[in-house]
Formats: sequence, C-alpha cells, structure tokens
Amino acid sequence: QPMNLLDRPRRLRTSPLLREMVAETDVNPRQLITPHFVVEGSDIYEEIGSMPGVLHVSVDKLVEEGGGDLELGRQSHRLFGIPEQKDDHGSSALGTESVVAKALRVLKEKFGQDVITITDVCLCAYTSHGHCGFLEDGRVANDSSCAQLAKMALAHAQAGADIVSPSDMMDGRVGAIRDLLDENGFTSTAILAYSAKYASAYYGPFRDACDSAPQGERKSYQMDPRNLREAVLETLLDLAEGADMVMVKLALAYLDIIRRVRVEVLCPVVCYNVSGEYSLVKNAADAGLV
Ligand code: ZN
Repeated sequence: QPMNLLDRPRRLRTSPLLREMVAETDVNPRQLITPHFVVEGSDIYEEIGSMPGVLHVSVDKLVEEGGGDLELGRQSHRLFGIPEQKDDHGSSALGTESVVAKALRVLKEKFGQDVITITDVCLCAYTSHGHCGFLEDGRVANDSSCAQLAKMALAHAQAGADIVSPSDMMDGRVGAIRDLLDENGFTSTAILAYSAKYASAYYGPFRDACDSAPQGERKSYQMDPRNLREAVLETLLDLAEGADMVMVKLALAYLDIIRRVRVEVLCPVVCYNVSGEYSLVKNAADAGLV
C-alpha cells in the first residue's frame, strides 16, 4: 500500500468540526446571486406559482427583501424586469423609467456599496413576440438586436447597475455593449456574459414568471445541447469582446460544460441554476422525497 494513502478515511469524518476543517469545497452566500422578478406598481409581494418561494415584487417591496438578503449574507442581486407594456422592439426596456431602472435607483440609494446590482440585459420580457431580439421577416435579427441591447445596458449603467449581464445569445452583443458603455464613460461597469446558454425545456417556470414564452422557439440563437466545443468558442468570443465574467447556463445538467469552461478561461465562471432545476429540487423537497 502506498505510504500517502490513509487506510481509514472515516477518521477525518468523526465529528462535525473535523469535517468542517477538512472540507475541500465551500459554498458561501457571498458567492451566490439572488434573482428578483420586479414588477410595476407598489405593495406587490406574490409567490410565483411555478417557483416555490420565489416572488414577484414591486420596487418598494424589493428594498425590504434586499435588507433580508443582506442579513443572510447575500449581497448580489440580479434584477429581471417585468414591464406592463410590451411591443415589437421591447421599448419599455430602455430609458430612465423602466422597472429595472427604478429598482436600481432605489436599491443603490438605500444600500449603496453594500449590494452588488446585476441586471438582466435581454429583450424577451419586453417584446410582444417574446424573442430575445428584433424579429425581421420572421427571423430574429442579430445586429439590430445588439444595438438595442447595448442601449438597454447603458440605461442600466446610468441607473446604477454594477454589472450588466446579457442573456440573449446574439453574436457580438458583448462588444456592442462594451463600446457603448465606454463611449459614455461607464468604463467601470462590468459585463457578466451568458456565454454558453443552451436551449432547454428547463426554462419553463422562468417563462411563466416573466410571461416571456416565445412565439416559436429560441434554437436559432440559444445553443444546441449536444455541443460542448461550441461552448468554448462562445466563451472565448465573449472574452475577446470584453466580458469580465462568463456564465454557463444551465448548471446541474451541464456540469461537464462548467468543468470544461473553467479549464479554458482565467476569469470567474458563473453558473445559473435555472428555474426548472430549482423547481424540481424544491418540489421534491416539499413532497418529502429529497
Ligand atoms: Zn431573453
């Protein structure tokens, strides 16, 4: 038997403190990002049926919830806006009066540097057709969509976003966002890119939460679940365009992709435990199965 092998590994599992001492992996609340689904109006605090424990909140309630998150050690907040008005071009995603811009101002006013504000940059919750970009001749257009996404990101930066986070999967959108932010003096606003985002049925509960089920499907822009090398290509492209952090979406079902991306890049790698993954675990726990 080689000398460096413990013959009785259970010895180091004897007590809770000993197990803490030798734990190889630690998940800390400061590393987690909490999603918030922000709606127009006031005094709204409603559970989303398909995601137990996840809420639709109005801006005033978001501030209360943010305080609770801080007590739990959760400092990072990802904001998804759910507008009342939708149109072909997702116009309500822009400007100073979008639901996300309002939420950013209130959060930053109240918590300042104690919170990290991250915004979802995508048009699907704002377009009447539910796609993440513009529709032209029945197809999701790339470059005109990038220009609109960049304007959306700039509006978020102006309202106080620390990090903007494009989730649309258009080609070149990270570069378009970086350029527009820099031109307007927001050189310190970071970009967390959804670099490897796969088309998936696991997004069902989220579409329910954001009322963003698309007409047709998203497979012409989200990635094919069968492709791993393409995840590396997408990630490297986003980094070349100026992403500060990259994301793999989904998480539980895509651990091989997370591992591969981790090996390929030097920047922080984020993963998204998506709504369907969350609800599977949560519902199983509520049913007493796990
Ligand atoms: Zn989208």
